[in-house]
Amino acid sequence: MSKQKIIGVWLVWALIWPLSLVLIYNLETPAVTGSRMNLMVFTLLTVIVALFPLRIGNHPVFFTQGVAFAVFLQYGLFVEMAISQMAVAVLLMKVRLSRHTMYRLPINLLMFLAISVISALLYEGMGGGHGPAAVDEFSDLFPITAYAVSQILLNQLFLSAISKWLYRRPFQWFDQGLLWDVMTAGLVLPIGFVLFVVFLQFGISGIFFVGIPFVFISGMMMMYHNSSQVNDYLKKASRIGHELTGNLGVTDVLDLFVDHITELLPVDHLYVFDVKESGQLNLIRFFDQSGGLDLPSILLEKGQSVSGHTLLTGKGAYYKKRTEWRTLESPYTPQASESVLSVPVVRNNDTVGVITVYSNQKRAFLQFQLLILTILANYLGVAIENARNYEKTKEESERCALTGLYNYRYFDDYMKQSFLRRGGDEQEPVSLILLDIDHFKKVNDTYGHESGNEILIELSSRLRGAAEEGMTLARYGGEEFVFLLPGFDEAAALAFAHHVQAVIRETPFTAYEHILKSGGPVSIPVTASIGAATYPDSCEEPFDLIRQADRAMYVGAKQRGRNRVAGYKDLIQPVQ
Ligand code: GH3
Ligand code: MG
Ligand code: MG
Repeated sequence: MSKQKIIGVWLVWALIWPLSLVLIYNLETPAVTGSRMNLMVFTLLTVIVALFPLRIGNHPVFFTQGVAFAVFLQYGLFVEMAISQMAVAVLLMKVRLSRHTMYRLPINLLMFLAISVISALLYEGMGGGHGPAAVDEFSDLFPITAYAVSQILLNQLFLSAISKWLYRRPFQWFDQGLLWDVMTAGLVLPIGFVLFVVFLQFGISGIFFVGIPFVFISGMMMMYHNSSQVNDYLKKASRIGHELTGNLGVTDVLDLFVDHITELLPVDHLYVFDVKESGQLNLIRFFDQSGGLDLPSILLEKGQSVSGHTLLTGKGAYYKKRTEWRTLESPYTPQASESVLSVPVVRNNDTVGVITVYSNQKRAFLQFQLLILTILANYLGVAIENARNYEKTKEESERCALTGLYNYRYFDDYMKQSFLRRGGDEQEPVSLILLDIDHFKKVNDTYGHESGNEILIELSSRLRGAAEEGMTLARYGGEEFVFLLPGFDEAAALAFAHHVQAVIRETPFTAYEHILKSGGPVSIPVTASIGAATYPDSCEEPFDLIRQADRAMYVGAKQRGRNRVAGYKDLIQPVQ
């Protein structure tokens, strides 16, 4: 949610909330009859029930609604409203709003204020009374039922509206939240009614008789919800795992991992470490929720800090508050953090990494989330290994092992792709130069194949040095090399070709592994013949470039005595 919206929410709350409370108090001064003790017991019950919060997705399921219902029937709108507002505050406190989600408090307070007021207006409009008068006639059934139904409907209406206007999520009337609301309200509101009736009959002891099962039902529902929450998390973990292992690049895998973890867990800081060969931990990913910290470069020793300790033990760690890991504090542990989950990334019985997440709140993580993080860490281990293998294989298949330059296959694919991307009608020139070493067979014969290789390596490094930004250089064949020169017209291409020719010719090459009798390095002069072609000057199709550069090299340079540069256009002119 944007900052403006959050400020807007607080402003609206500050304007409406206190005023409404005063107004309602004055319009409907509560008729608190009987002992104040009763009211306190109701309040206590509300607090206890609110301490067992249930959240389905983002919706809290409101068990305190039942108690509030009884309170409304007994005392009327103002007391019910006060109890409901308190319940919302307690419930949200239990859910542990952080500084970033604190805006949910005013939203919820206002929403329940509105629900209280509208339902009460409806109830009183239909002639509903309070205290014993609430249930003295059969017809009282109608306002009571209307009150209950309006609570359910308004709740859903407000949630949908808030979700649409504030969070820009699609408006959904019928979702799991509604089903839960209707079901819990169907259970909770009748019990609230019974609570009220029993209270009328037996006074304060009635609150206990109905209140105790109320607390137990809340507790049971919470336990059930927790187990289904674990299920949900497991499903999510498995989905994330598939997504991770289906991704090919290491960077993509890590990005995805960080995105998912920060969505799944209340994370303030996240560290992903790689175990180096030296046995140290090297930070490869860092996330700071507040966005204030950049990626620090960190190298941890085994046993150092929380992550180093996880590497040492090879086991996951779960800390609820800072005092539990005080001995592991280091300059690298985030300053305000309290809760920690830290897990090793294990591959083939080796720890290959460590993932550590911190939250600035105490007890931010649940025990089972350690298990979830462990599962995800395993997926990450597999995904990174796959991605590294893929990248290595790709690199190997694209480059020549001797010189490290791109190979023929890569160059060919690259040409195809870049020309397909350009489309046919673009007239920006592209040139290509192809060079072939002169009399290279003789070099091999005289100095040996090893020395030939040494020359190819040195030549590659000279060509790499000559290559400028935007050019693509490849070893096209045994001792043939190409440059693709985007944006170069014929004159520029020829000038660059002359430069390359000079780079080769002007300094002899050095061979160490030669087969000559004399020891020590020998100096070998080398020349090359170079052909150039330009699109669209000399050829109609970019794909013709190679063929034409080859022709120019062979006919224009080799046949005319070698150690030359020839353009394809010069070649065809005499024929005209
Ligand atoms: P030309 O001036 O006509 O090009 O003469 P050339 O001897 O260079 O003839 P050509 O281009 O046909 O011969 C290429 C030679 O390059 C053949 C082969 O022995 C040598 N060669 C190709 N690849 C390698 C390699 O990886 N290492 C070594 N040492 N030699 C290679
Ligand atoms: Mg050749
Ligand atoms: Mg040659």
